[in-house]
Amino acid sequence: MDQQIFVFYSILIIICCNVIGLFLSLVSIHVNFLHRYRIQKRKIKAKTFYNRLPLILFNIVLLMIISSIGLYCLHPLFESSINYDIRMIILQFFIILFIDDLYFYFLHAWMHKNSFILDKVHRIHHKAIAPFALEYIYVHPLEWIMGYFGPFIAIFLISLFTPISILAFWIYQLVRNIHELDVHSGFKSIFSRWIPFWGESEHHDLHHEKLDGNYATTFTIWDYVFKTKIDDDKE
Ligand SMILES: [Zn+2]
Ligand SMILES: [Zn+2]
Repeated sequence: MDQQIFVFYSILIIICCNVIGLFLSLVSIHVNFLHRYRIQKRKIKAKTFYNRLPLILFNIVLLMIISSIGLYCLHPLFESSINYDIRMIILQFFIILFIDDLYFYFLHAWMHKNSFILDKVHRIHHKAIAPFALEYIYVHPLEWIMGYFGPFIAIFLISLFTPISILAFWIYQLVRNIHELDVHSGFKSIFSRWIPFWGESEHHDLHHEKLDGNYATTFTIWDYVFKTKIDDDKE
């Protein structure tokens, strides 16, 4: 697949996910009857949303620029045309998701243990005590840039053995982005709570409420393995 087309579709996925995020955020602020489905009783003020929008938009634009350059340069590591081998797609998708998630767990836990980084960098994200969807990227730019190494480490490792499946990468992008919107949406989970070790919205919402524990995002298993799982004492 041509370099420009590959980058174009990858960026399109980012744009589509963020448009969904914008819609979800506006719904959680302006559609009052949906408040009963929110995890926390705290109401999100429209003023808070519009105050946070400039940093959110800045990060999304920067994300698209860095992703375009990064993917353009990494394009030789990807297969030359789309391969529809389902087993390879599923395998690579889970490897990227798994490595990225483990990397994120350690990065996130470190940002909480290091008081300097917590105060100067990660504290911005934690201004959201009861988050709305787009607050997944209401972070210090350094925070998501550090986090962005996760999938690229995975891509590099897989490429040592085989070319990266374009579809596996696109599915990873889609799932990871939608999952981030979901866990920051503030809405109670419907299906995800029934998938074992899958990070549901209550898991990350509690992390925002307590500012401690539940550092895992996609797979909650890391919080059990490293004993950082916290429970909601309201239940
Ligand atoms: Zn945190
Ligand atoms: Zn968060």
